[in-house]
Amino acid sequence: MMPVLEEKVLPKDGSLTVPVLIVGNGPSGICLSYLLSGYRPYLSPAAMEGSMLTLSFGSWMELPGLKLKDCVGEKRRNLRNNRVTPAEVAAYYQHFVSEMGLEKNFVPRSCLTSLCRINDVAKSEDASKRGVIQEKAQEEGSGAATRSLWEVRGYQKGSNGVQTPFLILAENVVLATGTQDEPVRLGVEGEELPYVCHSISEFETAIVHSRVSECSEAVLIVGAGLTAADAVLCAHHYGIPVLHIFRQAVTDPDLIFNQLPKVLYPEYHKVHQMMSQQNAGRDSASYRGYTSFPQHQVSSFKPDRKCVLERWDKCQTVVNVSMALVLIGANPRLTFLRDNGSYLGLNSKMPISCRYNPLQIHPYTYELLQEPNLFAMGPLVGDNFVRFVKGGALGITSCLVKRHKQQKEKVLAK
Ligand SMILES: Cc1cc2nc3c(=O)[nH]c(=O)nc-3n(C[C@H](O)[C@H](O)[C@H](O)COP(=O)(O)OP(=O)(O)OC[C@H]3O[C@@H](n4cnc5c(N)ncnc54)[C@H](O)[C@@H]3O)c2cc1C
Repeated sequence: MMPVLEEKVLPKDGSLTVPVLIVGNGPSGICLSYLLSGYRPYLSPAAMEGSMLTLSFGSWMELPGLKLKDCVGEKRRNLRNNRVTPAEVAAYYQHFVSEMGLEKNFVPRSCLTSLCRINDVAKSEDASKRGVIQEKAQEEGSGAATRSLWEVRGYQKGSNGVQTPFLILAENVVLATGTQDEPVRLGVEGEELPYVCHSISEFETAIVHSRVSECSEAVLIVGAGLTAADAVLCAHHYGIPVLHIFRQAVTDPDLIFNQLPKVLYPEYHKVHQMMSQQNAGRDSASYRGYTSFPQHQVSSFKPDRKCVLERWDKCQTVVNVSMALVLIGANPRLTFLRDNGSYLGLNSKMPISCRYNPLQIHPYTYELLQEPNLFAMGPLVGDNFVRFVKGGALGITSCLVKRHKQQKEKVLAK
């Protein structure tokens, strides 16, 4: 068993040395914390066969050792395809952490703000501070060369909202921070206006506070991914009129709806039908209050809530809206790394993105090729589904355990 970060509260003097520090509290971080705590998934051929016959969304979201169906309520168990809501999945992950006794490994409400090697810090800081950090590392008997230690800085938010800074020295750091923190922006005039939002939760808040309703002007939804589709379904559910704009043609094979099996995803199939059947200029009224604008882009947002839309042939339409939702994807926020981590990507000249430029790792150990003792997993390395994060967790655990054993053997041999 390998200790991770076994401190609920960070030390008051702001420093601590740990063998492995995981950044991120999503499925990747939880799964790795589980394996590093000594648990090993057990796969029996019978169990695998059984799960292959009953493959479902619910079970695809599971972490090893705890069935999701045992955590969601009785009434949900017979739902078609065993699909579950995001709230149920979130509750399952929380339950997983407490059920597996992993809470001691987590430092809640904490945000990492800077990650660099001690030597890089030492170069830029005064000699006395450098001495303190190096002494601290040796005192704690980490066994690792000071060269390989990471200096991790951040803050922990108290229940009163006060931020307390911390400093942790770590032999190994694992990035499990996901890729959802920075919504992609259109980059057009007026995008910063208050009625233009970039997350579905802002839409939900507007509904709760009756800022948008059946009687208001339409909501403009920009994008043709699953999040935009969720927003369309949400608006449709509340009878809120929708103008739906996207760049592709509805028949474009790259469109996610043209890749999803209709039987498994009936609600997304319905959105695709709406997009196809009820576009601007076509007189169909099967879906009241919905109009799609295929092969259009937003040209600008005006302060008076008018939006200028432009078709592929440059033909423009001006629409009045109550709010605009730009849901065209998200990118990771790696501001705690030099150059936002772009030097670690497959293409070092491009920003990191889960689709086009994931972090470049060793295929078995998940260690970054450019930075020894720094690992990454999940969508950051292109593993975009929860069922793939287990591979990363196993690879990193196997590598760290092997190195830990080798280190111990070296010490014993002395
Ligand atoms: C709308 C949507 C639907 C999806 N549906 C499915 C699905 O049906 N099936 C499926 O398998 N996958 C689905 N996914 C993908 C799935 O959510 C991801 O693969 C999974 O969440 C990745 O897990 P993760 O732990 O790597 O990252 P995340 O779940 O994104 O967790 C990362 C965590 O790290 C935190 N973090 C970031 N930066 C810092 C920092 N500096 N300091 C401290 N913490 C930080 C973040 O706030 C976040 O809480 C969906 C994703 C989206 C957006």
